Amino acid sequence: MSHILELKNLSFVYGQGTPFEKKAVDNLSATIEKGEFIGIIGHTGSGKSTLVQMLNGLMKPTSGQVLLDGRDIWTEPKKIREIRFRVGMVFQYPEYQLFEDTVYKDIAFGAKNKGLEGDALDKAVRRAAEFTGLKEELLDKSPFDLSGGEKRRAAIAGVMAMEPEVLILDEPTAGLDPMGREILLSQIVNYHKERGVTVLLVSHSMEDIARVADRIMVLNHGTLHDFDKTKSVFAKGDDLRKIGLKVPQITRIMQTLRERGTDVPDGVLTVDEAL
Ligand code: ADP
Repeated sequence: MSHILELKNLSFVYGQGTPFEKKAVDNLSATIEKGEFIGIIGHTGSGKSTLVQMLNGLMKPTSGQVLLDGRDIWTEPKKIREIRFRVGMVFQYPEYQLFEDTVYKDIAFGAKNKGLEGDALDKAVRRAAEFTGLKEELLDKSPFDLSGGEKRRAAIAGVMAMEPEVLILDEPTAGLDPMGREILLSQIVNYHKERGVTVLLVSHSMEDIARVADRIMVLNHGTLHDFDKTKSVFAKGDDLRKIGLKVPQITRIMQTLRERGTDVPDGVLTVDEAL
């Protein structure tokens, strides 16, 4: 395996030198392998959003480095735009960013800016729409005529169509009903399987993360509290509780892991008693 992302002593300080100075990410180091599905969890304010925005060059680290395929993404600041095509980011409530007059154009927007055209562009758009389960006939509609869930999918498809090497999703299922969440999550899993790209998923739904992630980053006050295989992180449920993360229905989470074929030792369930 080769490292797709290396985070080296990453820190980010908001309002540096002002009375409002806040260290949001604190000396964080981690290595992510090509093709991994990484879950990122942590309580509100633990630095998840700040961290992921540094990974695609949207925010420049106050100190430290982000290496993409072995190269510091800020080596040539003029080329940072290219990084944003290689590391695609789906923000929270991405549907607010739809603005074109058809769904098709909206999905094509980023890919076109990346330089895709003609058949390649058309293929990328249609494939992305398919990954997110958007029906063909919706492509000619105005994005404003779509339902909430469809708008979300269109926005996600727009990032997928850029064919990024790394796809980052910040709470992609927030605000969707349980069924919508379930479907969207399986579509992301399917996309990951078929495209073989690296996926980073920020979520405060432990159950969602348990279902999909190979490894989990646990953030606490901007530091990397834990970064381990999914089953190991949940096996240390006590530890999650200690940093203020609620681990609801841990028995169900363990069940989910078993259903995924993950070998979870029986002893792990004693965590349930501790909660
Ligand atoms: P999370 O995504 O885990 O909720 P964030 O990365 O949004 O965490 O925030 C990390 C910390 O940085 C929090 O303490 C938050 O209040 C602070 N923060 C986030 N955005 C800003 C900002 N624009 N200005 C100042 N502080 C910020």
